[in-house]
Amino acid sequence: MRKIFLGAPGAGKGTAASRIAPIKNIPHISTGDLFRENLKNNIEVGQKAKAFMDRGELVPNEIVIEMMKERILGPDCENGFILDGFPRTIKQAEMLKEILPIDAVINIDIPDEIVIKRLCSRVICRDCGEIFNLIGIPPQQEGICDKCQGKLYQRDDDKEEVIQNRLNIYKEQTKPLIDFYKNLGIISDVKVTDPNQTPEELVEKVLNAIREFNKDLKENSVI
Ligand code: AMP
Repeated sequence: MRKIFLGAPGAGKGTAASRIAPIKNIPHISTGDLFRENLKNNIEVGQKAKAFMDRGELVPNEIVIEMMKERILGPDCENGFILDGFPRTIKQAEMLKEILPIDAVINIDIPDEIVIKRLCSRVICRDCGEIFNLIGIPPQQEGICDKCQGKLYQRDDDKEEVIQNRLNIYKEQTKPLIDFYKNLGIISDVKVTDPNQTPEELVEKVLNAIREFNKDLKENSVI
């Protein structure tokens, strides 16, 4: 299965993908995580991306596409993957279509107020990338990851002044992907209206959307 989790920053794409990918035994590929990892390891692509990420802007398409092409054609992607944070522009979606077909896109639809509240209180484990939220999903011990005991930190781009910029860019450049995938007939919406929705509730909704999607695929199949 090759899936894309689409949605605004803070919609829960990463949280849902990190829990669903192991169930389906496929990798969870987050472009943002790849950039941060490359930066941590002093790899050029991470250094090139840093200035854009710090401002909450998109990294230029050529850089992203080159990195993602190599990643999704990797041997661990043979049975599929979940993409989180890619594609983010029509150009990226067109390029992805040239590389590999996608079977479904799950669009996590969430109001801005919930996103802003969440991102301002989001903390992440420096070692394993687990996501916590000081309001919704707090760690058991302050500043320490429940999963691996790593140190938790706030991303530089999760500061209020950068968040608004990221949301504007999402609306201008990424939201048009909803129509792009609607036209291909492969998108399903998951609506989030409860600010206190747990990760488990989100995962259940996303899994249901995937099940419905697979059912429709079988029903419409000519085989
Ligand atoms: P994320 O972790 O998905 O919130 O991404 C963090 C930052 O990485 C974004 O604000 C962008 O600067 C950059 N980034 C991640 N994915 C992409 C992408 N597909 N295209 C361009 N920039 C990206």
